[in-house]
Amino acid sequence: MRRLLLSFAALLYAASLSAQKPHVLMISIDGMRPDYVTQADKHGLHIPTLRSFLVDGTYADGVVGVFPTVTYPSHTTLVTGVWPSEHGIANNQRFDPERVMADAWYWYAEQIKVPTLWSLAHAAGLRTASVGWPVTVDSKGIDVLIPEYWRGKLGETNNPDDRFLMNAISRPANEVAAIAARIGVPYMEGNETTIEGDEIKTRYSLEILKADKPNFMTIHLSSLDEEEHLHGPFSAEANEDLEKLDGMVARLIAQQRANDPKAVVIVVSDHGFADIDHAFNLGVAFVKAGLMSGAAKGGPWQAQPWPLGCMYAIMLKDPTDAALRQKVKALLDGLAADPANGIEAVMDPAQVAAAGGPAEAAYVVTLRKGFTATGMTTGELVIPVPGHRGTHGFDPRTTPEMRASFFVLGGGAAKGRDLGVIDMRQIAPAVSQLLGVKNIAPTQSLLPLGDSSAR
Ligand SMILES: [Zn+2]
Repeated sequence: MRRLLLSFAALLYAASLSAQKPHVLMISIDGMRPDYVTQADKHGLHIPTLRSFLVDGTYADGVVGVFPTVTYPSHTTLVTGVWPSEHGIANNQRFDPERVMADAWYWYAEQIKVPTLWSLAHAAGLRTASVGWPVTVDSKGIDVLIPEYWRGKLGETNNPDDRFLMNAISRPANEVAAIAARIGVPYMEGNETTIEGDEIKTRYSLEILKADKPNFMTIHLSSLDEEEHLHGPFSAEANEDLEKLDGMVARLIAQQRANDPKAVVIVVSDHGFADIDHAFNLGVAFVKAGLMSGAAKGGPWQAQPWPLGCMYAIMLKDPTDAALRQKVKALLDGLAADPANGIEAVMDPAQVAAAGGPAEAAYVVTLRKGFTATGMTTGELVIPVPGHRGTHGFDPRTTPEMRASFFVLGGGAAKGRDLGVIDMRQIAPAVSQLLGVKNIAPTQSLLPLGDSSAR
């Protein structure tokens, strides 16, 4: 009897402990500029859930993002609080001068050089989960995991075998197959950057929220970015997509609140978007100068540009070759002198380091708004981009259209507070504070989220 009483007390104690544990859900809407929400009327947008954050929560007018403003480095800064030069995820795609990596992206958590919010939360005894977040394959800190990964060419054909692959790399063992059997909806074949793909990720996330009640969960929804690339930001297609995403966010909030009425929901994005009308194909100039072969399958090279959104990291095969470095600099300066090429700046390693950009680059060439970088090595140096297209990847310090989003609801976040413009590195420390775990990036100034200092 006494043993029974004791175990009952232990059970009560455990229950009270788990009741005190926080529940934080962070949803990333890829490519969502903050003015989709803060200026929703101007764009005729019906997004009641996202707009409710402006009244009931705390938000930023804009988040100055990472250098370059592209998806994988940005998502990694959101969960680490440091620039790409520190966390190691320099770009979406890997630098692959000899073309041996089959279009590999920075998919693997092992490539992140610093602690993440998941690893800190997990170490503190909190339950963690993630669906579709970049750079999470085999992340040791995530208890329930469906990472972002694919084998087919992104945006082209799906690979039916990816379903087996996604189940194999999900966590706990067979998580994807178990949810598929429960809800009768198969997981994506590869990475579907469509609203249908986001609906599948939402369905799987709702199942995980219901079954696991994670203390910290991240979700990445990617269709808005795709519509903005194809049709431009604030196009009818992008606006319609965001209106549908608003409904998915509503369902996720409802489930999160059913788990814990005091739960926190954060909506973020990785970067903004801007219209483009030209592509500057720097590889063409490198081939012409005899610095690389330009062959699709690689080939001999001394120096080549690595496209990072709307900038290029210039990579040298032998970084100690001073003559090569000088030859490349002369080529870049010559190209920058012609405004028709759209070059904004040719940055040396010290300037790149100050921006938090890739340390491995001999130079970085940033482009002016309107111009995008490509991997092309044949044809014209500058070509027009037809139709209404958009992209991201500019220098976050010179291009305000690249600003990302930050909206918080619950957890004592002040109602209707506008934080102004913040730095993307401030978000992870704010989340670590909400989770009650060790401050992930203690050198960052903390965001004033609480009610105590409400205006
Ligand atoms: Zn993105």
